[in-house]
Amino acid sequence: MTDTAMTDRNMTEERNDLPVAIIGAGPVGLATAAHLIERGITPLIFEQGQEVGAAIRKWGHIRLFSPWRHNIDPAARRLLEPTGWAEPRLTSLPYGSELVEAYLEPLAAVPAIAAALHTSTTVTAVSRAGMDKTHSRGRDERPFLVRVEITGGTTTNHHVRAVIDASGTWAQPNPLGQAGLPAPGEADAIAAGFITEPLPDVTGADRDRFAGKHVLVIGAGHSAANTLLSLGQLAKNEPGTRISWAVRGADTTRLYGGGDLDGLPARGQLGTRLRRLVEDGHIELHTSFTTTSFTTAASTTGGALLVTGSTPDGPVTLEVDLLIPATGFRPDLDILRELRLDLDPAVEAPRELGPLIDPEFHSCGTVPPHGAKLLAHPEKDFYIAGMKSYGRAPTFLLATGYEQVRSIAAALAGDHEAANTVHLELPETGVCSTDLGGSCDTPATQAAESDETAESCCAAPAAVEETSCCAAPEPVLIGFPTGLAHGRTATLTD
Ligand SMILES: Cc1cc2nc3c(=O)[nH]c(=O)nc-3n(C[C@H](O)[C@H](O)[C@H](O)COP(=O)(O)OP(=O)(O)OC[C@H]3O[C@@H](n4cnc5c(N)ncnc54)[C@H](O)[C@@H]3O)c2cc1C
Repeated sequence: MTDTAMTDRNMTEERNDLPVAIIGAGPVGLATAAHLIERGITPLIFEQGQEVGAAIRKWGHIRLFSPWRHNIDPAARRLLEPTGWAEPRLTSLPYGSELVEAYLEPLAAVPAIAAALHTSTTVTAVSRAGMDKTHSRGRDERPFLVRVEITGGTTTNHHVRAVIDASGTWAQPNPLGQAGLPAPGEADAIAAGFITEPLPDVTGADRDRFAGKHVLVIGAGHSAANTLLSLGQLAKNEPGTRISWAVRGADTTRLYGGGDLDGLPARGQLGTRLRRLVEDGHIELHTSFTTTSFTTAASTTGGALLVTGSTPDGPVTLEVDLLIPATGFRPDLDILRELRLDLDPAVEAPRELGPLIDPEFHSCGTVPPHGAKLLAHPEKDFYIAGMKSYGRAPTFLLATGYEQVRSIAAALAGDHEAANTVHLELPETGVCSTDLGGSCDTPATQAAESDETAESCCAAPAAVEETSCCAAPEPVLIGFPTGLAHGRTATLTD
């Protein structure tokens, strides 16, 4: 193992000259770099993939539901503009692959970012240099130690003054079994290739794998909807393709999202089209289905997966060729084990953010504006941003992440006024459980005009009144979780 040069003696004095580490070169990680560069702070970006946007490349065939104007970070745009970058048409909806090619790749090529970017480099642990979690004295003044593994085997420790974890959640899909645990036989079914990755490209690169097969999708939400619609397309052209869909809930109203009432029309249309496929009999829907076990069996096509679920009518077994999981994702907290975190016990987001985004209570795409203050942990100068900051909640939007990292960069630069003045410039998205005619969130213009700050709106959600923008949450009855499938697995009692 090698260490970036630094002795124990000068560690504290030179801390402020050190770079700031960013974990992940997705849209939020790269936006963080852009904001830091604007503030004169040197970023050090670690990306485990071979290229930037590694997670998005896996779902590059999926069209985003938010238009370009919400997907470009303002500081990133300021870095890109002088390079002759051709800005995409702001009203159009990019595919994941376009987000990477037309935005992330040019951004990664900007010299200040290219110089800071280390691809094929996985962060395996973050700690404080020379101190484990139990040591408190002088802790805040110590640099962080970021341990990375370069593909091929070299392990290196880097000392940095702050760490922003923007590593997303893509690598950690939720298990399919009940109670947040894998069902018996689940690991074997994955190893045998019966359970695929989330969001395969069923009409494109992965077509041959799915054509003519009986495919089961488990889970609800945006990812499930996308996958089912693509399978519907495939079944039209490939005779013998059969689609089943199992969900744990009994209520079908919620499955189709907000439809015409969704503030992001593209997302609303997904639900409307999905409902039609089910009602026309192209998709066999199993509600109140809680997966309890997987076994494999011989079949005419060379092997089948038996998926058993408990239902109100007793156990039901579905025999399928392939299963596509759409049960959401969870954050990898293992790499942060040596840090002092303060997380919401349910959602695994920073504690004060948790109640505002809990998928059991919120389906809306917007949350009150929030930044460094709300995202802070007891571990000074450490932040989780982007998709991972929402923990297990599926309602994250890029525009929210861009505002998070603008505020974090300001805080690290010592500009506390800018850090605390958080703006909300989001579409009014989603359909709220409490009022189908509107959204549970403050409309963008209203929030901007009232100049809400993190303290005023979000610092103490428990204390605010029902009429404020942080109204006490009500259980969600309808609405697509944004971006991902519903971020949790089944309970037997559902
Ligand atoms: C299908 C789909 C559609 C979506 N559509 C929209 C939409 O329309 N609008 C919207 O606003 N949001 C959308 N989202 C939600 C969200 O904006 C995206 O998930 C977005 O990619 C999140 O960006 P991120 O930078 O936080 O994380 P990611 O894009 O996941 O990037 C994280 C990066 O970190 C890297 N990484 C992970 N672990 C490590 C490690 N240990 N060390 C180093 N690097 C690591 C990964 O390889 C990856 O490149 C969608 C999500 C999905 C899945």
